[in-house]
Amino acid sequence: MSYVDEVFNLVVEKNPAQPEFHQAVKEVLESLRVVIEANEEAYRRDALLERLVTPERQLLFRVPWVDDKGQVQVNNAFRVQFNSAIGPYKGGLRLHPSVNLGIIKFLGFEQIFKNSLTGLPIGGGKGGSDFDPKGKSDREVMAFCQSFMTELNKYIGADTDVPAGDIGTGAREIGYMYGQYKRIRGVYEGVLTGKGLSYGGSLVRTEATGYGLLYLTEEMLKCNGHDIKGKTVVISGSGNVAIYACQKAQQLGAKVVTVSDSTGWIYDSEGIDVVLLKEVKEVKRARLTEYAAARSSAVYHEGKSAEGAGSGVWSVKCDVALPCATQNELLLDDAKALVANGCIAVAEGANMPTTIEATQYLQENGVLFAPGKAANAGGVATSALEMSQNSERLSWTFEEVDGKLKNIMVNIFHNLDDAAKKYNMEGNYVAGANIAGFLKVADAMTAQGIV
Ligand code: NDP
Repeated sequence: MSYVDEVFNLVVEKNPAQPEFHQAVKEVLESLRVVIEANEEAYRRDALLERLVTPERQLLFRVPWVDDKGQVQVNNAFRVQFNSAIGPYKGGLRLHPSVNLGIIKFLGFEQIFKNSLTGLPIGGGKGGSDFDPKGKSDREVMAFCQSFMTELNKYIGADTDVPAGDIGTGAREIGYMYGQYKRIRGVYEGVLTGKGLSYGGSLVRTEATGYGLLYLTEEMLKCNGHDIKGKTVVISGSGNVAIYACQKAQQLGAKVVTVSDSTGWIYDSEGIDVVLLKEVKEVKRARLTEYAAARSSAVYHEGKSAEGAGSGVWSVKCDVALPCATQNELLLDDAKALVANGCIAVAEGANMPTTIEATQYLQENGVLFAPGKAANAGGVATSALEMSQNSERLSWTFEEVDGKLKNIMVNIFHNLDDAAKKYNMEGNYVAGANIAGFLKVADAMTAQGIV
């Protein structure tokens, strides 16, 4: 049996009931096959793949907190420090009821390659909890965040592990966590990114993932003879990534006609009104029905969960589709609908939103496909820029950070394009991303010996 297949079987055997983790490993290992086979003896001797798929450290802890009725609640929490070969662990904290160890491991594993692709010195990690901030009072969210950080602070630091936001962890949660870290550790350091501007945050961090997604998409289209200007775009999600993807797409001259959340989706024939969307989602923290109620060109459709069922936005005719909600939200049938409607490009704002079968179908049918670990790397790249600013105790201007972000995203695209060409898989950006991300990490792991 080939080394790649052996290691994949080992992952399934040793990590039962973690389907998302298996899926992420399978996708990466499959596209590394040609690279691994070219150097199989050395990689096998050093157990490089076994080390790559095994986190350096996994932390599991309980988070007790008191709700507004005086009742004690207990949540499960995780931090997976996956790989530090090229820098301190870096990756977000997800707060969502669906969070479990397998989900955090899939996200942490993906993060290794994503962080490598940015060209910046950051390793891979991820964390979170099954706590649901939705419907909680500010005091309850603070109580959870403080209890969470009371345990987590022992394992993180500006030069060891620097968490950030993700689903459910926005500016409010990062603020409460940062305050508790500072209080316990007594140091004012850049231990979290996504901080508020008044206490060490970076301009553009809020917009970074969505903006970066569009910079990469624009470059991918340009290099394939298309212009983003004038294109019709469908977006899923209506959180941080989706909102700023929508904003940048419109700034670049495209028309975005859909957004969604976990209960439904909007079709807006006039193009999404980003100011209204921000008011509904960032200020009121309300459902999309409020958007539809305030805008006559918008139609609201009650939808199913994005997980496993598809959200309906993929049935809308478009040129470009940007899944920006959650994992496994774009399924094979959705891919078929996109192809039938003439979609030319899909770029993932979320992590692993497209299933392996859907990805293959899109690629086989000539749709340009940019995987999340490249397309959404703008968030973590700007987090790394926040770390740099914190280290030098300086704040760069919006234009400076935005310019660096754009450069990074354009470079990422060319790295994957070049890697795919080098290994005779021209246009396969999934393979290109995995190969380019892997080679740097593998080199560093080899150079650092058996650790
Ligand atoms: P937010 O919490 O801000 O928004 C998430 C959006 O997706 C919301 O509209 C939410 O709807 C929807 N959603 C989440 N889970 C589900 C679900 N199970 N079913 C249906 N809809 C769902 O998160 P972000 O925008 O930050 O993150 C979105 C994706 O992008 C995630 O995959 C994340 O890992 C990835 N990502 C985020 C980065 C960042 O910088 N924020 C960086 C790189 C990747 P509702 O409000 O109804 O729950």
